Amino acid sequence: MHRSLALIALALFATACNPEGSEDDPNNTDTGEVVDDGTLNLTNCAEDLSGASGFFADYFACTEISSATGGVQVATDGLPPHRSAYYAADHENYVEFDTRGGSHYKNPNTIGEQDITMVFPSNPTPKGITINAAMVDNTMNTSNEEYSGGPVGIALNGVAIFAAMAAPGDDLWQEQYTFDLYEGHPAMTTYHYHFETPGPLEVMVNRGWATSSTPGEGEVELYGMMCDGTVVLGCTELDGSTPSSGDFDAQNGHLHDISDGTTTHFTNRYHTHVCPDAYPDYPFFPEIAYYSTTDCPRVGP
Ligand SMILES: [Zn+2]
Ligand SMILES: [Zn+2]
Repeated sequence: MHRSLALIALALFATACNPEGSEDDPNNTDTGEVVDDGTLNLTNCAEDLSGASGFFADYFACTEISSATGGVQVATDGLPPHRSAYYAADHENYVEFDTRGGSHYKNPNTIGEQDITMVFPSNPTPKGITINAAMVDNTMNTSNEEYSGGPVGIALNGVAIFAAMAAPGDDLWQEQYTFDLYEGHPAMTTYHYHFETPGPLEVMVNRGWATSSTPGEGEVELYGMMCDGTVVLGCTELDGSTPSSGDFDAQNGHLHDISDGTTTHFTNRYHTHVCPDAYPDYPFFPEIAYYSTTDCPRVGP
């Protein structure tokens, strides 16, 4: 190949493989700066952190946070503060769907504004279960211990987290082929994530906790929290150290204090680690709730 052609090919390849780092994205992943290009982004999303403190003030964006009986209330409109092919075509954040060479296809849904509120318990109640491989089948309605369908967690950027389950007869692994470049998609109008995504990691860069929002490359990787109080981390602990995976359960969960290296935010708290490169056996956000889900949103019967 001619040298200049090779360079062009290389440049195209780099752009295609690193969309969140391209100049098209307002949330700059290298500097943490947010470019005001008229899109909905981390600086102009609906946010009120005046009632937030500690962990929630340090890590959550694009949410309204207040204290509530027994915990911390987090409310969000669920709109992703980044580009997506699932925004309506006339939305500033709309981009054309990337089929990633033909492997991905768009589902028929469009992103709409949500009204999602969760109270994350300060002292969640363990159910006393051991999460084993039989419980973790990524299929809905197969265990009393699984989360409900619909929004059951909130990511750092205010986007809904759905549990790692597909409807019976569907395959969650197949659903990933409808994900946009931020690894999300809408159910009806509710945009959500099921596994590793640069979206929440852009908040980590924006707040100075990491210098890359590419999953697997951040110095500290935190995605969000589930409604029962389970924390969802990535390839690192909150202090940037490598998780000791020896005691992982079937969804990469374990218990220990969660500290940023200075402040211990949670004592002996159950959390999971999403890091497919290091832990390929379970690449998703959690399916089974370790803690009581009494205060979790319930969908359906
Ligand atoms: Zn989904
Ligand atoms: Zn851990």
